[in-house]
Amino acid sequence: MEIGDLVQVKKCPDNGILCSCFFCHHDSSCVGLVKGPATFNRWSVLFDCGEWELADDEAEVISKSIELTDDQLENVCGGMEQSQFDSWRCRVINEGG
Ligand SMILES: [Zn+2]
Repeated sequence: MEIGDLVQVKKCPDNGILCSCFFCHHDSSCVGLVKGPATFNRWSVLFDCGEWELADDEAEVISKSIELTDDQLENVCGGMEQSQFDSWRCRVINEGG
């Protein structure tokens, strides 16, 4: 995992219907953008439902820091607006919208 990577957290069984973890609770797409290092060798990752810290083995890298210009990367590291992130994420993973 590196800054700017797009990562995917494994979805919980049964679409998380009986789950109350961060991602299920917020009905997240489970796709996030790595913002930077966090404590305990973890990464701070921005998701559609907010920020979450993950270890390397807790998420799969689905896209290596593509399409990120220096400016965008700075945006990400400096705190991208949630709405900006949402539209950016939709573009990158072709969700439409
Ligand atoms: Zn869950």
